[in-house]
Formats: sequence, structure tokens, C-alpha cells
Amino acid sequence: VESRIQRLERLASTGRLAAGVAHEIRNPLAGMRASIQVLNKRLKSDLTGKNEMMFLRLIQEIDRINKLIFDLLEYAKRYKAEPKCLNLYSKLNELLDLIESELQSRHIQFSMENLKTDTMIFVDSVQFSQIVLNILKNAIEASPSENGKIVIEITESEFSVILKITDNGSGISEEALDKIFDPFFTTKSEGTGLGLSIVHELIVENEGEIDVKSNEHEGTEVMLKFKKGSELIYG
Ligand code: ADP
Ligand code: MG
Repeated sequence: VESRIQRLERLASTGRLAAGVAHEIRNPLAGMRASIQVLNKRLKSDLTGKNEMMFLRLIQEIDRINKLIFDLLEYAKRYKAEPKCLNLYSKLNELLDLIESELQSRHIQFSMENLKTDTMIFVDSVQFSQIVLNILKNAIEASPSENGKIVIEITESEFSVILKITDNGSGISEEALDKIFDPFFTTKSEGTGLGLSIVHELIVENEGEIDVKSNEHEGTEVMLKFKKGSELIYG
């Protein structure tokens, strides 16, 4: 059986390989995209509707590969966690700024419950952002076009802090629920299926816990548990 060290080494080399390959693929892709656009322009007057559609399709598929590669790069970029004490209030507000416009354009009502200004968690700051943003992105993507609602509820206990992120979106079928953490598992036409597998690894790295509950057509609840930080001890 593979030791922990061996596993870490394998993951590290997979990461380097992925990053290398990703860069090599991106450049020719950019060239292809540009050429296709030039061709499309030159032929525009001769194109029938159907052929015009083919050009559109080519561009869309190239964009899709690009997105996959972007996610793969994110996956490869992971580094060892450096947990520190983090003020949850300022961190969450910082993240909210990043998704604010998306929430507004999709008319999603967002609220945070029981968030105190002095709650500290012990976690790698960059990885915490990756975790929460991935979960929020999924919640946004699942939200209905009307009356979407996302809530982050905080519960603090003696040694841990729990974030419950709830949406009233499409929900996850029982069958899919078993697979959501698998790399490349996706039910979206434009999805890469890497988000939650990254989240899972980052949660493990930070010695946290994750649990997902969902009812199809009703919504999804993601529970994230982190170690509580203490300003007095960690400064
Ligand atoms: P992607 O978002 O690229 O599909 P993820 O790993 O982030 O990949 O998610 C995997 C799958 O889990 C999604 O395709 C979707 O089926 C399901 N899923 C995750 N979060 C939610 C959610 N909040 N609501 C509904 N389905 C979800
Ligand atoms: Mg996702």
C-alpha cells in the first residue's frame, strides 16, 4: 500500500505535470480560437445559417476546453496548508464582495446569520477562500431564476466553528450525491466537476469536515466545520 509520503509525492508530481500540460495546451488553443474568428469574418458573406452555427460551436468548444484547463491549473496550484488564525467576519465580507455582482444580476437574496465580529477560525486563508467560493459558486449555479436564496449560518462551539451554506436551488439526486466529490463528476453542460474534489482535499488539508445534505428540487445544505482559532494563543 501507498504511504502518506508516497501519496503526497504522487500528488505533487501530478500537479506539476498538470500545470505543464495545461500551459502547453492553452497556447495552441488561443491560436486556434483567433484563426477561427478570422476565418469566420472572411467567410461571413458566404456562410449559410448552418455553417455559421458550426463556427459558433467551434468557439464554444474551445472556450470549454479553456475552462477545463483553468480548473485543472487551480487544482495543480494547490500547496501545503498554512493554517493561521483568521477573523471569520472580515474574511466572509471580503468573499462576499467578490460574488456581490453575480448575486445581484441573478436576483439572489443573500444573508448571513449569527456572524459575530470576533469569531476566529484556524485555517489557511487562501484555501478557505477557495473552499467557500467553490461552494457559493455551486449554490449560485443551482439557484432558480426567481426567488433564489442563499444563507450562510454560523454556529460556534468550544473548539470549532460550523458554517452551514444553504440554497433553495435544484438540489442533488441521491444517486449523484455519492459522486459529487469525485474529480470530473458534473451534471452541468459547462461544468468541469473539479470544484468539490478540490474542496474536499482542502478540507482534509485543513483538518476540517464537510457534509452535504440535499433534496432534489428543494435545495442543498453544505456543512463546513473548522477548528476554532484563538487570538490569545495564535496572535
Ligand atoms: P461543477 O460545478 O463543475 O459541476 P463540482 O465539483 O463543483 O463541479 O460539483 C459537482 C456536482 O455536484 C455538480 O455538477 C452538481 O450536480 C452537484 N452540486 C454541487 N453543489 C450543488 C448545489 N448547491 N446544488 C445542486 N447541485 C450541486
Ligand atoms: Mg462547481
